[in-house]
Amino acid sequence: MTTSRALYLEDNFLRECDATVISIKDGKYVVLDQTIFYPNGGGQPYDTGKLLKNGETFNVIYVGKFSGEISHEVDRPGLTFGDRVHCILDWERRYLFMRSHTAAHVFASQLCLGTGALVTGNQLEVDKIRFDFSLEKFDREILEEYIEKANELFKQDIPVKSYILSRGEALNIPGIIKMAEAFPPDIPNLRVVEIVGVDRQADGGTHVKSLKEVGQIVLLKAENKGKQNRRVYFKLV
Ligand SMILES: [Zn+2]
Repeated sequence: MTTSRALYLEDNFLRECDATVISIKDGKYVVLDQTIFYPNGGGQPYDTGKLLKNGETFNVIYVGKFSGEISHEVDRPGLTFGDRVHCILDWERRYLFMRSHTAAHVFASQLCLGTGALVTGNQLEVDKIRFDFSLEKFDREILEEYIEKANELFKQDIPVKSYILSRGEALNIPGIIKMAEAFPPDIPNLRVVEIVGVDRQADGGTHVKSLKEVGQIVLLKAENKGKQNRRVYFKLV
């Protein structure tokens, strides 16, 4: 079996594409030769949408990556090996996660730069963004300050770019790995997401093209999760 081409990494703004079914399991887990559907992972939820075959619609209800294969779960049987399908994303859902993902990088960059905090996890959700980090001193005022700094950046037309660097080149960039524990696997190349003048991070997610697209963020809740572990929730407005 050949591996699917991840078109969503090459162009975050692709909403439709044609593809061929290269594998199908239990009638509803579909692997395509190329796909625009983002699989659940890296704190970004899966895309939804549909596959069309000769006027028939198969709704994509979950997308995951299993043993390196991007598997699309559809809501009914009927697809077979070799079928040509037209893929359409639920763009509203995806674009929300693109804005959220870029927002999370900007907030992380401001907080980490300003306080030396280390990111320990983050999860985008439809109605909020969860962000975990380790930091000794912690109060709501500090967080509000970094939310404000991020919001100032979201008022500017700052470009967001992505490109591939060799592992060596990428790991030479200070702060490229924001996660405290997650170190990239031993692969020759890393995809880098750069918010020009603000942040560069090794990342496999989808992002907007300009910080202006994000809008603004507001702090929802801040929690202590142990001695140095902190959790905040914020949302797009
Ligand atoms: Zn990311």
